[in-house]
Amino acid sequence: MFAGGSMAYLVVVLGVALAVSLGAVAVLNGRLRGAQNDLRDKELEHQVVMDRLKENEYRLRAIIESEPECVKLQAADGTVLEINPAGLRLVDADVPQDIVGRKIYTVVAPEYIDFYRENMRRVFSGESAIYVFKALTLKGKTAWMETHAVPLRDARGTIYALLGITRDITERKQSEEQTRRHATELARVARLSTMGEMATGIAHELNQPLSAIANFARGCIRRVRVGDMKPEELVAPLQEVCQQAERAGDMLRHVRNFVRKSEVAMKPSDINQLVRSVVKFTELEVRQQDARLNLDLDANLPRVQADGIMIEQVIGNMVRNAAEAMVEADSADREVTIRTRPLHSGVEVEIRDTGPGIDGSVIDQVFDQFFTTKQEGVGMGLSISRSIIESHGGCVRAESGRNGGATFRFTLQASEQKETKREQADCIRH
Ligand code: ADP
Repeated sequence: MFAGGSMAYLVVVLGVALAVSLGAVAVLNGRLRGAQNDLRDKELEHQVVMDRLKENEYRLRAIIESEPECVKLQAADGTVLEINPAGLRLVDADVPQDIVGRKIYTVVAPEYIDFYRENMRRVFSGESAIYVFKALTLKGKTAWMETHAVPLRDARGTIYALLGITRDITERKQSEEQTRRHATELARVARLSTMGEMATGIAHELNQPLSAIANFARGCIRRVRVGDMKPEELVAPLQEVCQQAERAGDMLRHVRNFVRKSEVAMKPSDINQLVRSVVKFTELEVRQQDARLNLDLDANLPRVQADGIMIEQVIGNMVRNAAEAMVEADSADREVTIRTRPLHSGVEVEIRDTGPGIDGSVIDQVFDQFFTTKQEGVGMGLSISRSIIESHGGCVRAESGRNGGATFRFTLQASEQKETKREQADCIRH
């Protein structure tokens, strides 16, 4: 009975255990199926992501391939890892193998290799860089290139390549070079013209003392020949001869100084005396235009700090311009007036004429180099005058009257005073 009971109990226990195990297996089976499903889903998801990545890579490649600029990847040692067709064309490569796997330095002009290396170093240390260099293509052609480079990092942030976009800027470089050469050439021409203009001016001015010397000397000879004079009467004309010869010497010294670019010979000078000395050799030109040369000189002027010969050139040029303007003056009132007056700490010189005046549309240009309205004009006189006055610390202005007539004014500093704010204001007002 007991044995039969035990047996039944065992069967029940085993039955229960079996049922529990089967249940567990069923649960495990269910879980396994679930996991398998999850895995399949994940695989699908992965596939979708991979497809998308591939798609993106194709798209990116297509963009890079069709990019008109050269796009390339370079390793830290300069090895070209990838390059698009535009890049191949830029370096004159027929097939990618001509350049991919080789060092970029094969297409950099030797004198730019160190510079290029330095820029690569900057990019591989994390900076972006833009650099211009001379390239020597695989077929030996020289070209100027500009590269915009950035570092490329992997998922851990390590820089593994340089991404560079390079374009050919040879044409731009050539036009920059042309502009530079043009500017240098212009400066050379301007310098030559200044010298030429000065030489012409000096030759013209030298003519005056030389003819005066000849005239005085001829006068002396005539009187000596006639014999109707006392020897002391020859002293005055011979003194004139000496003065005129010294004046000619001064002019030549000035040209020498100008050519040597030496400092201007500044010394305290009497501006009225400089005006009178200019009058001597310009009066005739004014008179030839049926005009009168008037002087309105203030007797109480301070001495000015100036290179006399240079200031005489400025006044002479302005008086000559005034005389030339008289050609077009139709009024009977034909006058050129030189006026001097004291300023707070210097002197102002004014040269005024009754000519036609200066057209309002060009009045701002009269001091520009090569600006001229005359058939035979060079357009350097006023430009040189302005440089001279400004090198003396003064300023110069042109004005035109309502009813014609031009007025040129310039200032010079007194030799004993420094320029003050008040005088600068004078400069601006006039
Ligand atoms: P240039 O006498 O060779 O033309 P300047 O530099 O001395 O060169 O003068 C430039 C221009 O300024 C002249 O061509 C003229 O148009 C103008 N100009 C100068 N002075 C006068 C003046 N007194 N009256 C009218 N125009 C003048």
